[in-house]
Amino acid sequence: MTASPRDGKPFAMEQNSTPDVLVIGGGPAGSTAAALLAKAGRNVVLIEKEAHPRFHIGESLLPRNLDILERLGMLETVRDMGVHKPGAEFVSDRTGRSCAFPFAHALNKARTHSWQVRRSDFDATLFKNADRLGATTIEETRVTDIVFGGKDERATVTARTKEGVTLTFHPRFVLDASGRDTFIAGKLRLKESNKYNNTAAMYAHFTGVERREGELDGYISIHLAEDGWFWLIPLPGDVMSIGFVGNQSAWKGRKGTAKELFLQRIASSPTVSARVRNAEIVSEIYSTANYSYRATSGSGEGYLMIGDAFGFVDPMFSTGVLMAMTAGELGAKAADLWLDDPVRGAAACQAVNRELAQAMDRIGWLIYRINDPVMRSLFMSPKNTLWMRDGIINMLAGNLAGGRFGDPRAIIPILSFKAVFHVLSWLHRRGMGPNMPEARPAMVAAE
Ligand SMILES: Cc1cc2nc3c(=O)[nH]c(=O)nc-3n(C[C@H](O)[C@H](O)[C@H](O)COP(=O)(O)OP(=O)(O)OC[C@H]3O[C@@H](n4cnc5c(N)ncnc54)[C@H](O)[C@@H]3O)c2cc1C
Repeated sequence: MTASPRDGKPFAMEQNSTPDVLVIGGGPAGSTAAALLAKAGRNVVLIEKEAHPRFHIGESLLPRNLDILERLGMLETVRDMGVHKPGAEFVSDRTGRSCAFPFAHALNKARTHSWQVRRSDFDATLFKNADRLGATTIEETRVTDIVFGGKDERATVTARTKEGVTLTFHPRFVLDASGRDTFIAGKLRLKESNKYNNTAAMYAHFTGVERREGELDGYISIHLAEDGWFWLIPLPGDVMSIGFVGNQSAWKGRKGTAKELFLQRIASSPTVSARVRNAEIVSEIYSTANYSYRATSGSGEGYLMIGDAFGFVDPMFSTGVLMAMTAGELGAKAADLWLDDPVRGAAACQAVNRELAQAMDRIGWLIYRINDPVMRSLFMSPKNTLWMRDGIINMLAGNLAGGRFGDPRAIIPILSFKAVFHVLSWLHRRGMGPNMPEARPAMVAAE
């Protein structure tokens, strides 16, 4: 039987089989929700199938994450484990140009930096924090089944420990934070793939990669390649996380081991290969396919999906952990309300999914057009007329929430940016308009 990190004692089933809330998955969404519900005095069980610390991708955080970390009492702890991140840099393989987006220019200047972390450390710390605040935490135990609407309207949740012992719980409310496993969406067949983003990713940790210095020290670099994009995320020590996200054509017909495939992709990017000349891979090579998706409905009688368990949007702008933790906070509030008043709680659950879906759509609008030469040209030489550049930086800093139109300060800048994009696209299609540097042939790839 697995133990709780709080006391190291075996989990006492008899005391915990009827919690107020059961949380499936101890990633950022689940640990945030469990911590806040426990803090509010609820009886919470948090179940994680793996043992922390464990590898996870998603290492670059956004400034708005800091607010949530502060509310969790985790700000200093995460600062001590992270690399200071003052902004994001975009590099074009087409032109070789780099464009910096410092968070200090965001319209909302409350937070002007973030951090980049090893997710193994970050997730383990959030999980321990949930335990510290009073949640019952169980590791190496996989939730295997859920049946809704049992005795007293409680669900029946079955889980299996590493040793093969079956545990049965009857929670009043279930938060599904199972990440890309999408436990409930999969079971109820509610998962819908995003037809605009059928990409896959490959990634690993390296040492010896050329790091940015001076003003760009600590920046995440996003290298825009011909058929996808790379991230280069500086982590503590000399470690650099490198990943490539590409559409179907980027992988089609390529042969070899995972390592060969990944190194071929890197070699095909002149700007990335220039930075890895003396680098070495120091981790396994990981991959993720079947990329973006969303549940057609994220809540029902006595449950709510939060974080990646509800939906996933391409991580180009590092929004995943922020959205997962935001959903964790909002989900905890909705579950708390549901326990007192199921009717108002159900409405709150729907509002959580709506808010998150709108944030995903807002960021998706930009991401799914990033390969368009007009968008790339605008993005790589942003003008600050009508605060358009600062409005984009505002989004990159994670100011995505705020109802249908997002951060009110960004409404005019973002609408102006969209209008300029549509006008230039119309002109470009007719062979008119200004010279588009991103429409030129690509630079020659390095050997
Ligand atoms: C290639 C790639 C790059 C990314 N880069 C970034 C980035 O730079 N910045 C960023 O912010 N985001 C990034 N993301 C997104 C980020 O990884 C996720 O959005 C984030 O981890 C979501 O948190 P979560 O808590 O919802 O899910 P997860 O972090 O996946 O946590 C879910 C947890 O549930 C557990 N679990 C699953 N099923 C069960 C079960 N049946 N029983 C018990 N436990 C279970 C899992 O073991 C896991 O620990 C990236 C994603 C990908 C794929």
